[in-house]
Amino acid sequence: MPSPQMSQAPRRGPAAGRVPDELYDAYVFDLDGTIYLGEALLPGAGRLITALRDLDRPVRFLSNNPTKDPQQYADKLEALGLPTPVDDIVNTVVVMTRWLLDNAPDAVVFPIAEGPLIRAFEQAGIRMSEDPSEIDIVVASYDRGFEYRKLQIAFDALWFHRRARLVATNPDRYCPMPGGRGEPDCAAVVAAIEACTGATCEVNVGKPDPAILHTALAGLTVDPARAVMVGDRLSTDIRLAREAGAASALVLTGDTQRDELHGLPAAQAPDFVLERVDRLLPPRLWEYLGWEEDDGHDG
Ligand SMILES: [Mg+2]
Repeated sequence: MPSPQMSQAPRRGPAAGRVPDELYDAYVFDLDGTIYLGEALLPGAGRLITALRDLDRPVRFLSNNPTKDPQQYADKLEALGLPTPVDDIVNTVVVMTRWLLDNAPDAVVFPIAEGPLIRAFEQAGIRMSEDPSEIDIVVASYDRGFEYRKLQIAFDALWFHRRARLVATNPDRYCPMPGGRGEPDCAAVVAAIEACTGATCEVNVGKPDPAILHTALAGLTVDPARAVMVGDRLSTDIRLAREAGAASALVLTGDTQRDELHGLPAAQAPDFVLERVDRLLPPRLWEYLGWEEDDGHDG
């Protein structure tokens, strides 16, 4: 794609709202509620990602969800028409595995987790056990197989043997689903363990911890201040951007309703608010690309 002519005044641009007026050096996107919801791309997501790649802007994807591994996300994006290299996707499976290898390489771990996280630990050579007397770290996560037996093991490791530490993949209360529904997420598992043991979760490796953004930008020579983080949640995506020193764009297609922004302290407010994710491109690029408001509904 040739260089866009940025000097022309736009014939029309995105609807009123605070949107970027420049291109960033890197673009980092949340997935659920930002790029897709359920099994469908959100309006404008497909043409936005295609345009950014045509403009040679690095695009990375982040997810706090540890119930899939990056390859499963890559497969899903490909099925939705957005083929993506697996290394351009970072989720809490990747970051938690790395955190354990970096911070507790010899620890015996009890993962309260689904298959993808457990398989990643196995592949990394992390020792795992269900014997509370030898567990050093309880890893809480979004686990739809959570049950009393697992809670008892965590309780014994943390409270009875008083040897284990509690860490978590992500702080989300629930995972949004289509139709306004949701599933209880990692915060519920952490709360159950904290409630019975009196322990406090020491580490969360998912958003808003800046480590996940730094992992996503690894290998790029991009100043985080010249990157923009785009997501649908104030408490994770937008806070992450702030903590990592990146620009932040909140998209109103997922968790956050516009009225939640009223009265929000400036320190928690996003830099930009987007009705749909393709408004991330400046209005003059809409003009250059010939985009219309009503286009892009198929992604
Ligand atoms: Mg989201």
